[in-house]
Amino acid sequence: MNAVRSSTATGTIATAKRGRFAPSPTGRLHLGSLLAAVGSYLDARHQAGEWLVRIENIDRAREVKGAADDILRTLEAFGLHWDGPVRYQHTRVEAYRAIIEQLQSRGQVYACDCERRDYAAQGAPGEVRYPGRCRLRKVPTASPHALRLCTQGCGSLTLTDRAQGEYTQDVEAEVGDFVLWRKDGFPASQLAVVVDDEDQGITDVVRGMDLLDNTPRQRLLQSRVGFAAPTTLHLPLLLDERGDKLAKSRQSLPVEVHRRSAVLLAILTALRLPMPESLRHAPVEELLAYAVPQWDSARLRNLRTITLNIG
Ligand code: GLU
Repeated sequence: MNAVRSSTATGTIATAKRGRFAPSPTGRLHLGSLLAAVGSYLDARHQAGEWLVRIENIDRAREVKGAADDILRTLEAFGLHWDGPVRYQHTRVEAYRAIIEQLQSRGQVYACDCERRDYAAQGAPGEVRYPGRCRLRKVPTASPHALRLCTQGCGSLTLTDRAQGEYTQDVEAEVGDFVLWRKDGFPASQLAVVVDDEDQGITDVVRGMDLLDNTPRQRLLQSRVGFAAPTTLHLPLLLDERGDKLAKSRQSLPVEVHRRSAVLLAILTALRLPMPESLRHAPVEELLAYAVPQWDSARLRNLRTITLNIG
């Protein structure tokens, strides 16, 4: 267990539970991310826990200038106030490197100079399992290369998600040896998420459904380096009023801060909180204060989708 787990981000009260919201600053906050922010906030606060914000900007090439500040301002406008300082992953490269070196010294990672197109075409359409081509090759490390975790013999892993229930994946068979350090020199998100969740003492991960299939990779990595695995709750996918998957264009629309009460009320209702009619026009702080004690993740059990109805 990490030392941080027994201290606090704020250094004031000792709390056992700690959640986080970890947006990538590739644009402004959109509805899908706001759902993740609200869900993780309510889950942490309901358990009298801390709620941290981590800006996942290790991929400097995809970072949009000003997006991180914009996301933080939007969170504040929605009354989602975090504990302690915001963490920025670009400041953490040495910590990620230390873990990679640990895995390297145990022979658990190998260099790979494959291009995605070298193997993507071999699998079924849309599938990008890495077939392990470089496992036994001695790739010259003087030229650009990625570092992959050797998943040989990892077997199938079943985890129990607090909302989605049992989820099973054989990482070796379904994903293959995955990248921990990218060929372009950036640490991979799987590595950064795992290292930071441990370092920040995160006990409860609440995030979007799109990341459920990343969880077995993260669990595997956690077990290889001896980190405790936080519990996970993957929030259902957001549908629009007509029950259609939020169109990419709509999904990527920034949330409308000027309509924040209506947007937040719609999100809370979609998250199965019994919001009374009397709070219809209440300010966001009041909506959240009502929602925190009412939060019950059991209401989301086995829910794959939820509908957003902004009045
Ligand atoms: N940075 C990731 C994203 O914005 C989230 C990672 C996580 O919550 O584990 O999709």
